[in-house]
Amino acid sequence: DVPVITVDGPSGAGKGTLSHLLADTLHWHFLDSGALYRVTGHACLLEKVSWDDHAAVAEVARHLQVDFRTDAAGEVRVIYKGVDVSRDIRTEEGGRGASTVAAIPAVRDALLQRQREFRQAPGLVADGRDMGTVVFPDAPLKIFLTASATERAERRYRQLLAKGEDVSLPRLLGDIEERDARDSSRSVAPLVPAEDAIVIDSSNLPITAVFAEVMRAVRR
Ligand code: C5P
Repeated sequence: DVPVITVDGPSGAGKGTLSHLLADTLHWHFLDSGALYRVTGHACLLEKVSWDDHAAVAEVARHLQVDFRTDAAGEVRVIYKGVDVSRDIRTEEGGRGASTVAAIPAVRDALLQRQREFRQAPGLVADGRDMGTVVFPDAPLKIFLTASATERAERRYRQLLAKGEDVSLPRLLGDIEERDARDSSRSVAPLVPAEDAIVIDSSNLPITAVFAEVMRAVRR
């Protein structure tokens, strides 16, 4: 079986950074499952499908024409119907759309097989919310990476400031708490660690230390 490392946890805990470090170091494939939900939400906006129309959103998810390409700078670009939507899906609205459509069971079903297709030799690092619980329950190594909401909001705040964006820390914290509540209270695939996951709290840990800890577990 092709090995998988699942990296789950709330937004802003450092999953993306950790997953990319792991995939680069091991030369494994990478699945950004959040991007699939983000593109689904975004595609609905483009196709004028309301996020509340569950059957229509699931239809959009089933036929999603999405590709991941690595550009010359080594950045993963997300392509929807031939157009680079990487920036559009990373907005706060993109996050809201993703978590709204992600709460629809038929949407999760529609994306399940597509996510499993990323499992290819020599291995896969899968970043998301339910990678270890639903999508790859047999993964030999499962990480649940978390951090306090305040710490995650501050990280996001610094990121956006560095990009020159005008942001408010209290608003970011509000968004994060709202998204956490939605992600952990929904009826399908709520955000909980898999029983066999290693739980790491990164609130007071630099990502390099988290990475070192996970690499020790990989080698065991
Ligand atoms: O990870 P990212 O912030 O891109 O995910 C956006 C949203 O997509 C999350 O807030 C969550 O609601 C949803 N999601 C999910 N299951 C995944 C990945 C993301 O429900 N495996």
